[in-house]
Amino acid sequence: MGSSNGQPAVVVEGLHKSFGDLEVLKGVSLTAHEGDVVSMIGASGSGKSTFLRCINFLEMPTQGRIQVTGEDISLKTGHDGNLHPTDRRQLERIRTRLGMVFQSFNLWPHLNVLENVIEAPVHVLKVPKAEAIERAEALLQKVGLYEKRNQYPAFLSGGQQQRAAIARALAMNPKVMLFDEPTSALDPELVGEVLKVIRDLALEGRTMILVTHEMKFARDVSSHVIYLHKGLIEEEGPPSQVFGSPKSDRCKQFVSGIH
Ligand code: ADP
Ligand code: MG
Repeated sequence: MGSSNGQPAVVVEGLHKSFGDLEVLKGVSLTAHEGDVVSMIGASGSGKSTFLRCINFLEMPTQGRIQVTGEDISLKTGHDGNLHPTDRRQLERIRTRLGMVFQSFNLWPHLNVLENVIEAPVHVLKVPKAEAIERAEALLQKVGLYEKRNQYPAFLSGGQQQRAAIARALAMNPKVMLFDEPTSALDPELVGEVLKVIRDLALEGRTMILVTHEMKFARDVSSHVIYLHKGLIEEEGPPSQVFGSPKSDRCKQFVSGIH
C-alpha cells in the first residue's frame, strides 16, 4: 500500500531538539510524499512524539529545516535557543495543512461530537455553519459515529472518542495527518475499530505520518517505516525490509517484540 510518486508533502531535514541539556532528537530527516504512509516505531523515550510535535511547532526545534506542502517554514533562533517561525500567518497556514491525532483523544468535553467536529472549520476557517455541519455529518458517517453525533465525549467509549477526534482532524481538510500512538490509550478490544478507520484513510491515499506500537498494522499500511533509537534513525526502509530483514540487531529485537 502507498507509493512515493506524489509531490513532497512533508520534508524534514536534520531535525535536532534539546530540552535543556537533554538532546532528544539528534538529526532526524524524513520525506513523506503525497499518498505515503510513513510509520515511526521505536522504544518509549526515543523521541517519536517530540518529532511529530516539532513538525507542527507544538515544540520548537533546536536545529533543522521543515517544509510542508512545498513551503519552507521561515525560522529564526529565539532567546531560548530554539527555532521559531518568523511569520505567524505562515504558521497558521501550515497548521491547517496538518491534522494531528493524539494518544489521549483531547475532545472538548463541553461540546457534543458534532460540535467538536465543526468547531475549528467554523471558527478558524470561517466555513458557514450549515456547510460545516453537512461535512461533519459525512465525516461522522465515515468513521461510524453518525448515530452518536449529539452525544458528549464522556458518554463515549475510548474507541468512539478517538474516531471522533479523527473526524475532527479531517474536518479541517488537512494535507497530511499526523497520528501519535492513536490506539495506545485504548482497551485492547477497541483498538481494531480505530485502526480500521486509519486503514481506510491509507487506502484512500491520505498522506500520513503515524507513530505506533501496532507492528502488524504498521507493516500492512506503511509505504516507509522509520525505526528511531535515542533520537536517531537506526533503520528505515520499506516495511518488508524493516520488519522482514532489518540490518540493525536492535531493530530486529524491537520488531520481534523482545525489548
Ligand atoms: P517517545 O514519544 O518516543 O516516547 P518523547 O518524544 O515523548 O518520546 O520523549 C523523548 C524524550 O524527551 C524523553 O526522555 C522525554 O522525557 C523527553 N521530553 C519530552 N518532552 C519533554 C519536555 N517538554 N521537557 C523535557 N523533556 C521532555
Ligand atoms: Mg510518544
